[in-house]
Amino acid sequence: MKNQLIIQDLFVSTKTGKQIVDGVNLKIKTGEIHILMGPNGSGKSTLTDALMGHPEYKITSGKLILNGQDITNFPIDKKAKLGLFLGFQYPIEVAGVNFAQFLRMAVNEQSSKRVSPVAFRNILKSQAKKLSLKDEIIERCLNEGFSGGEKKKAEILQLSLLKPKFAILDEPDSGLDADALKYLFNFINNLDFPLGMLLITHNQRILHFVKADFVHIMIKGEIVKSGDFNLVEEIERSGYAEFA
Ligand code: ADP
Ligand code: MG
Repeated sequence: MKNQLIIQDLFVSTKTGKQIVDGVNLKIKTGEIHILMGPNGSGKSTLTDALMGHPEYKITSGKLILNGQDITNFPIDKKAKLGLFLGFQYPIEVAGVNFAQFLRMAVNEQSSKRVSPVAFRNILKSQAKKLSLKDEIIERCLNEGFSGGEKKKAEILQLSLLKPKFAILDEPDSGLDADALKYLFNFINNLDFPLGMLLITHNQRILHFVKADFVHIMIKGEIVKSGDFNLVEEIERSGYAEFA
């Protein structure tokens, strides 16, 4: 039960009662990269949003278990504190909160060691550089006026500093150009801590960028097939039709 994130028989409805996620099971161990693919509207973002506790959705049954502990109904900050990082497909903008301040607060919240503002800013700048993110951005308000690609990079920058045990990332690669993709995945592949990851993506070239341990295909709220990286090649060849 240690070093595992388990999504157990999870059903999710909208708050108006429309069922979207239909009994999803996933087990992610520390260090593993799981890729979740599926056609538009199959419920991938709803799964992530529901796990985050998005008010639009309701988990009607099933559990989210982190290292043996049922955290399904924990508030987002408690989930984060226990080591779960949830990335959004559309990161929100937070007016009035400076990116660097926000991140330093979040990092201090999570660890017993306090980092000084100056030291923190230096770490932030060097990480931003690795992502080819302009460091002027860390002085701005969180996500405010960031381009789509900048938001995605800022999210990965947050992840690298928060050092979670598990991350669920909803299309971290969407809206990135070819160079930015390379930077992003290079960064993900070289994190200096062990991470279990569920990476939702539409990018069938994903295998050129990350070493996937498992690939899952979601259709109409269900995971219809799981396998290894060969599954991505199957999708690349013939799309999702054969799984529907
Ligand atoms: P994916 O991320 O796989 O593209 P989504 O999870 O965004 O899919 O959406 C799954 C389905 O649920 C879609 O048909 C979408 O229109 C529907 N859906 C998502 N949120 C709501 C909502 N709040 N109200 C009604 N339908 C929704
Ligand atoms: Mg989505």
